[in-house]
Amino acid sequence: MPSDIAIPVATKATPSIQILNGRFDRLSAHQTVEELVRATRARERGVLSTVNVAILMMMRSDPRLQRFVDTSRWTVADGQPLVWASHLWRQPLPERVAGIDLIDQLCARAADEGFGVYFLGADRDTVRVAVNVLQARHRGLSVCGYADGYFGPEQAEARAKAIAESGADLLFVAMGVPRQEYFIDEQWKNLGARIVIGVGGSFDVIAGRRKRAPPFIQRAGLEWAYRLAQEPRRLFRRYLITNSQFLGLISRNAVARAFHLQSPIPRP
Ligand code: UDP
Repeated sequence: MPSDIAIPVATKATPSIQILNGRFDRLSAHQTVEELVRATRARERGVLSTVNVAILMMMRSDPRLQRFVDTSRWTVADGQPLVWASHLWRQPLPERVAGIDLIDQLCARAADEGFGVYFLGADRDTVRVAVNVLQARHRGLSVCGYADGYFGPEQAEARAKAIAESGADLLFVAMGVPRQEYFIDEQWKNLGARIVIGVGGSFDVIAGRRKRAPPFIQRAGLEWAYRLAQEPRRLFRRYLITNSQFLGLISRNAVARAFHLQSPIPRP
């Protein structure tokens, strides 16, 4: 059934698990893509949030971001450390679901299914190159439009309405966290698109402006260190704070569980 608001967490359709302050759907990357294809075909609407450790910790001090993720229809774990942490529970997450991989996999399915896609975010040149790359990779991909993510609050509504008028089914917003979440939250009623996903800095990577960590670094849970090495000045404080906070909270949780101070059974 079509709905105009992001469905609250209590009605999550897929099995989920609570890790600290985040509730994650227990879906593999493949299942996530198929669930989004199903929802688009059924003309449902919803937001998918991709959450990594830094975002999970950011949510703790940003009630608006916390609420946005809590009310997202789907939330997936975009980081190996979250998948490891989920093993403290009886029904862990099957695997990491990275936002940047979702873009590729969904574009492939969108081309098959005839879904229209819109890309919002990054600077004008980067988003254009990213769209060209994706169109070259996925023959028949229907790009309803694209636009850069640099605009003031007075332009937000017009940007959202342009997306609705484009008729796009899927919308990727790559404006960084929490900027993209605030935009989606504020403009949800104007956006029109059925499935909306915030994908951080993914367009920079697709356009070749920023390098993604090699797979072995991703599997080792060290993607953050790779990014830190690329932009040490900007990211040092962010990763130092969020990683140590996460480690502290998860260790406390593990100790509590070991001493049966908390129920190991995931909430339904
Ligand atoms: N970005 C944007 N609009 C803005 C600021 C940033 O579209 O007002 C884009 C930026 O070009 C980049 C992406 O958002 O492609 C992620 O930005 P950044 O690396 O600053 O965010 P982070 O991933 O560090 O949170």
